[in-house]
Order: sequence, then structure tokens, then C-alpha cells
Amino acid sequence: MELYSGHINKLIDELSGLPGIGSKSAQRLAFHLINMPQNKVERLARTILDAKENVRYCKECFTLTDNEICPVCANTRRDHSTIMVVENARDLAAYEKTGKYEGIYHVLHGAISPMLGIGPNDIRLKELITRLEGDVSEVIIATNSSLEGETTAMYISKLIKPTGIKVTRIASGVPVGGDLEYIDEVTLLRALEGRTEI
Ligand code: ZN
Repeated sequence: MELYSGHINKLIDELSGLPGIGSKSAQRLAFHLINMPQNKVERLARTILDAKENVRYCKECFTLTDNEICPVCANTRRDHSTIMVVENARDLAAYEKTGKYEGIYHVLHGAISPMLGIGPNDIRLKELITRLEGDVSEVIIATNSSLEGETTAMYISKLIKPTGIKVTRIASGVPVGGDLEYIDEVTLLRALEGRTEI
């Protein structure tokens, strides 16, 4: 028996496919959307489409941006010889929020996970290696301290070592398994300052 109309069911279905949205939340959101004024729903739908159509990957660091080159990479006052490797754009945002990091970034868009079948070719690793042909003095690996993050850090370190470029890993002040974005700025800065060569 269908509890709701077909349209509502379809909406609930789509919403529950989003990360962190369970079936209860999906139902709540669906009814909320249906009760919203028409113009607000249209604005929301348009905003999602606009973002999807206009947001792209920065040509240099692969973070999400509206332009070809993101504001960090475009900033000539940043230290372009220091590259911090992060798993996603949210981690980049967390470090940017501290306002203390002067280098630039490289966003992997994931981490190596043999369990989930995510290999080195499934993340932006080749692009990082290409960037190292430029004038780079240090690569700071700031992947999460989860199993996947550590695996990725070790893999990158082994890859870069032969080039002679200094490779460092942020200090393990970052809670194990904790997503970087949820960590406060003081902890992030301490992890950055306490980085050690690997
Ligand atoms: Zn960039």
C-alpha cells in the first residue's frame, strides 16, 4: 500500500539518497518542501541547478570554485612552494578558516580505501605528482587520521620521497577518525605546526 502520493514518494526517495539523510529526515524535508511557497521552491531548485552548472574544479588545486583558478591559487602573496594535501574541499575550508596557513592546497577528493575499492587512480593523485614538477619545497599531508587517511598519507609519501621534496605529516593531535572539518581552529593549527617529516 502506498502511504503517500506517488510524487511525494519519489521526492522522499530522492532526498533519502543524500548523505546523512535517513528516511525520517527525508519525509520531514519532503513535507516541508511541499508546504513551502511556490517561489521559494523554485529559488531552491534554481540554486541547486546553478551551482551544479557553474561550480568547477580549480585547474591547479582541484578545489571547487566558480572560476578557472580558485582565489587561493590566484593569490600571488601565498607561498606557492608549499602544498598542503587534503581529502576534500571542506578540509581546505577548515584550514582557511584559521587564517594562518600561507601555502596553497591540493584537494584529492577522497582517500585510498582498499575496503571500498578506492585506489590511487580514483583520487586526484596523478594531478598532485604533475604539480610537483614545478617549484615545490614542501608537501604537507593533511589527510584525516582515519585508516584511509593514513593509508593515503603513506602512499603519497612513498611516491614523493624519491623526488627529494620534503614531505611532512600533520601532528596526530587530530582525533582518530575525526573529520578535519569538525575540529576547532586551535587543534588544526597545533596539528599543522607540529607536523613532522615522514
Ligand atoms: Zn586552487
